[in-house]
Amino acid sequence: GAVIGILGGGQLGRMLSMAAARLGFKTHVFEPGANPPAQDVCHQVTTAPYTDVAALEKFAKSVDLITFEFENVPADALDLLETLRPVLPQRRALATSQDRIVEKEFLSDLGIDVAPFANVENSDDLARAVERVGAPSILKTRRFGYDGKGQYRLKSRDQAQQAWSELGQEPCVLEGFVDFSHEVSVIGARSQSGEVVCYDPGQNVHKNGILDTTTAPAKMVGSQRMDAVLLTGKILNALDYVGVMGVELFVTPKGLIVNEIAPRVHNSGHWTQDGCAIDQFEQHIRAVAGWPLGDGSRHSNVLMTNLIGEDIFALEDAAQDPDVCIHLYGKAEAKAGRKMGHTNKISPRTN
Ligand code: ATP
Ligand code: MG
Ligand code: MG
Repeated sequence: GAVIGILGGGQLGRMLSMAAARLGFKTHVFEPGANPPAQDVCHQVTTAPYTDVAALEKFAKSVDLITFEFENVPADALDLLETLRPVLPQRRALATSQDRIVEKEFLSDLGIDVAPFANVENSDDLARAVERVGAPSILKTRRFGYDGKGQYRLKSRDQAQQAWSELGQEPCVLEGFVDFSHEVSVIGARSQSGEVVCYDPGQNVHKNGILDTTTAPAKMVGSQRMDAVLLTGKILNALDYVGVMGVELFVTPKGLIVNEIAPRVHNSGHWTQDGCAIDQFEQHIRAVAGWPLGDGSRHSNVLMTNLIGEDIFALEDAAQDPDVCIHLYGKAEAKAGRKMGHTNKISPRTN
């Protein structure tokens, strides 16, 4: 069997490894941190920083292809890996999603709506951005933000300078605050032959900047659901994408606005593990391995709830509920804000 290399050994790398194993693949995980969650379930782990050229080379040569569980893979490491093995999804998807400005320009060019935005690299930019976008708005670092980190909410224009200082005067984007009724996401996949498949949109609720629950299916009228799926397909095709992608959307009275895209399996797609015959992890492995995709159909309704920090110590009810599927990541310390696992409560499909 082929060996699939995975950059990143967090819970997403762990669940990708489990799906790969079911299809008869071995996985080799490259992860700088000690004791990654993926280590219990993958064939091999390399613990080394992304600057370790010898380790990267050895890793690449031990696998047939390389994929990743996070979008901040350093460019130099990719430069090297790409010369040795295919890296999927391709570079362009990573480059696009690593920088919020590049991402928003890419989406706008496709004719997809995004929040009003302006680039902020210096004080002049900041003044212009505030003029253009106004308040309420959100200042976000262009790179490396996740789980709501690297963001500052402006209630009024005079908070702009304060916000930019708090974020370390890094390159930022100022985004107009979108008055959405709810948030949804589409998990889409594209195969090597260009076949596109999307799961039903799920509805997301965040708590303290971190995803709390996803409900599938999302509350949407049929035309909105169609819009969401079509725009996801458009993004996947434009990037000549291979693999699974998460597209986060705001639902507004004026239509759908894309918040951000993630070139990987996505937390808001965990419901597919117990709502679909072929979940997002298997779908991703199928795509990068050159297999046909699953059709993405949903056999059940699902409520996915993240277990954050100490939530993992309150599993008695979940463990006694015959309709709850428990997924734990094997992380040692239940630190505040850390994703420790999730549950999927299933019920019969209603629509
Ligand atoms: P993730 O962990 O999903 O990668 P992130 O740190 O990249 O998150 P965003 O998704 O940009 O952050 O923002 C986090 C949440 O903040 C969004 O899901 C949404 O609830 C809210 N938010 C972000 N941008 C806007 C906006 N322009 N208008 C209104 N709400 C927003
Ligand atoms: Mg993000
Ligand atoms: Mg997000």
